[in-house]
Amino acid sequence: MEYPLPLPVIHILESLKQAGFEAYIVGGCVRDLLLKRVPKDWDITTNAEPEQIQALFPDHVYENTFGTVGVKVKRFHPLTPPQYEYDIIEVTTYRTETGYSDHRRPDQVTFVTTLPEDLARRDFTINALAASLDHYTPSKDTSETALCTLSLVDTFDGLGDMQKKVIRAVGNPEQRFEEDALRIMRAIRFASELRLPTKTISSANWSIDASTLEAVKKYASSLNTISLERIRDEFSRIILSPNAAFGVELLRTTGLLKYIIPELEEGVGVGQNLHHIYTVWEHNLRALETCPSPKLHVRLAALLHDVGKPRTKQGDGYRSTFYNHDHVGARMTKIILARLKYPKDIVEKATLLVDNHLFYYNVGEVTEASVRRLIKKVGLENMHDLMDVRISDRLGSGVPKAKPYKLRHLEYMIDKVSHDPLSVKMLKINGQDLMRELAIAPGPKIGAILDVLLAETIEDPLINTREKLLTRARVLLEHNLDELRTLAQEKIEEKRNTDDQSIKQQHFVQ
Ligand code: ATP
Ligand code: MG
Repeated sequence: MEYPLPLPVIHILESLKQAGFEAYIVGGCVRDLLLKRVPKDWDITTNAEPEQIQALFPDHVYENTFGTVGVKVKRFHPLTPPQYEYDIIEVTTYRTETGYSDHRRPDQVTFVTTLPEDLARRDFTINALAASLDHYTPSKDTSETALCTLSLVDTFDGLGDMQKKVIRAVGNPEQRFEEDALRIMRAIRFASELRLPTKTISSANWSIDASTLEAVKKYASSLNTISLERIRDEFSRIILSPNAAFGVELLRTTGLLKYIIPELEEGVGVGQNLHHIYTVWEHNLRALETCPSPKLHVRLAALLHDVGKPRTKQGDGYRSTFYNHDHVGARMTKIILARLKYPKDIVEKATLLVDNHLFYYNVGEVTEASVRRLIKKVGLENMHDLMDVRISDRLGSGVPKAKPYKLRHLEYMIDKVSHDPLSVKMLKINGQDLMRELAIAPGPKIGAILDVLLAETIEDPLINTREKLLTRARVLLEHNLDELRTLAQEKIEEKRNTDDQSIKQQHFVQ
């Protein structure tokens, strides 16, 4: 069978062969080619030693730790971010790894002479396939790939497992997980990434082989030995995968979740009130599953949006309440994501979305001013994400419709009011005007007056004329700085409280 390979990959394979070495594409890229997925990266393995590889490809990066030479090639990968000038193809000398006294990094890397020895160190049989290039047909057009005839080397029956849709450790799973605990996370990540949505197939779906799965459970606690950053990266891939809920549920049933986000497990078996058919845990999972956004922070927010419910639950049965679970959940989200070492902007945005996911909106009932306040609180740039979390929340609660009309109407309102003043910059006067017209010296009082004017303009956009604002500013000038600050704050807080009140009422009966 013929497979499309990028020209730079073909070039490296051919150059190694011409120099008298063996050369294979190996690992994930072979797996993905066979499964008709786009490989994330291309890895090549060879019997050439690192110095020989470096001599053949002078344009390279080399870090001496594992003997991998990164050959720089012209950009070809569809997923390479635009700021990168070139792509890197990793060329690695056949090797085995021994030691693993810290359960994550080999103590020693030893070069070996045959490909099967190298394949034996790889994690799963589907990742232990290699292929050499027999023949290729250069493309006539300007295409960046060429069709290649490949010869597979399949020492561990990866192809058989691929046909059975099974993720199976190479060799003894317990030993392999003891060597490197990250493989436990990778097993679940591959299961969620490869699994086909159940709606679309009737045949067997991807799963983890029974003894590999038993070993995953047995070695769950060794997740403690690997860095949170590596756990986080695998976790992110699970929740970005098409079977995110399946993956997170698998993390729980295998006992891994308690080393990642134990707080989520508090929702297991916690019933809700009469408007919910699912427990808190099931609902969080379903919200993630139905999340329409591909963005990491939105998916994290969908998964965590009700994480605060178990800690705020009062009463039992159909009249139970969860007052304040949004704010409690936001605090928990911040702690969870910071602990997992997510970048600051992801932590902040996901926290903001959880904090505001209960925003109240009903066509005809909610005023433009309150939409403006919501935008001010959340930021116009985050409104779309907030709506995606709301859609996840609704779809994930098993209600028949996501009520898209309401949200479409809100989108319309956002559009409408976002042309009205939301920041002091949008006021028809600025600090300079105040200093000139009111003859006051530069100082914090100017900013405070502008803040009060903004708070008042949010309530009544009609006062946003130069004349009206200056008249009001003359009155405000009589107040001292603290009074002004309290005034601006109060105006906004006052309204926020009214909103919160109606949200709470809304949620008692939901
Ligand atoms: P993807 O690129 O989609 O994340 P992948 O399987 O290609 O998946 P990489 O991290 O690119 O993962 O690694 C390339 C190959 O290296 C794997 O297919 C596997 O053969 C081997 N490998 C990677 N990580 C490990 C590990 N922790 N233990 C054993 N082998 C590994
Ligand atoms: Mg890869």
